[in-house]
Amino acid sequence: MKRTIIRIPMGKSNSYLIKGEDGYILVDAGMPGKIETIERTLNDCNANFSDINLIIITHVHNDHVGSLYDIKKKSKASVLIHEKEKKTLNKGYNKFPDGTMFFSKIISSIANNLFFSKDQFKPVNADIVISDEYNLSDHGVDGRIIHTPGHTEGSISVILQDEYCIIGDTLFNMLPNSVYPPFANDQDELLKSWNKLREYNCIKYYPGHGKEFGLAKFDKTIQKYIIGGE
Ligand SMILES: [Zn+2]
Ligand SMILES: [Zn+2]
Repeated sequence: MKRTIIRIPMGKSNSYLIKGEDGYILVDAGMPGKIETIERTLNDCNANFSDINLIIITHVHNDHVGSLYDIKKKSKASVLIHEKEKKTLNKGYNKFPDGTMFFSKIISSIANNLFFSKDQFKPVNADIVISDEYNLSDHGVDGRIIHTPGHTEGSISVILQDEYCIIGDTLFNMLPNSVYPPFANDQDELLKSWNKLREYNCIKYYPGHGKEFGLAKFDKTIQKYIIGGE
């Protein structure tokens, strides 16, 4: 089956462009000041901003919504978000997420105490607010959005063609043997979301940080954190 997911490196995080029947869906909006990166990618696809018909936000951290205000303004696309993230997107700032590992706990505590203002972004009003599963067929794409809380309360993942999954920060691919995220506000919820995700049996995963990876790496981490215990 033809894959139509394009990874766009947006500073320290990834955005993804999904090609649909009538235009593109953008997943996440990267760090602030990255609108030109999106523009270049659209040019490479012989497309422009008006071809984006939907922007899905996996969760509200400034590395995923930093350029959202500018991209929405230029594309006039609808912004979709989970109801649990809507208020934060309106506010224009968020707390730094809790660390799940020794080093990330330190980073998180320093960030929340000293650099709070760093997780800021231009506020945006979402157009489509979902509470549970959402079908993307109306947007010309064979796929659905599911609620995968844990990293944040309203984190969502996009499953395409029942095979590919764009997962935001629910899985991180920055370490060789694990995709466990270094930051998550609720680790019990996160592992419940992993169980839910695993049932879809997707073969490829597209994370907010790092490159795409296969089911084997996800399974290896599940073995460590769920089956084997920590
Ligand atoms: Zn995040
Ligand atoms: Zn992130």
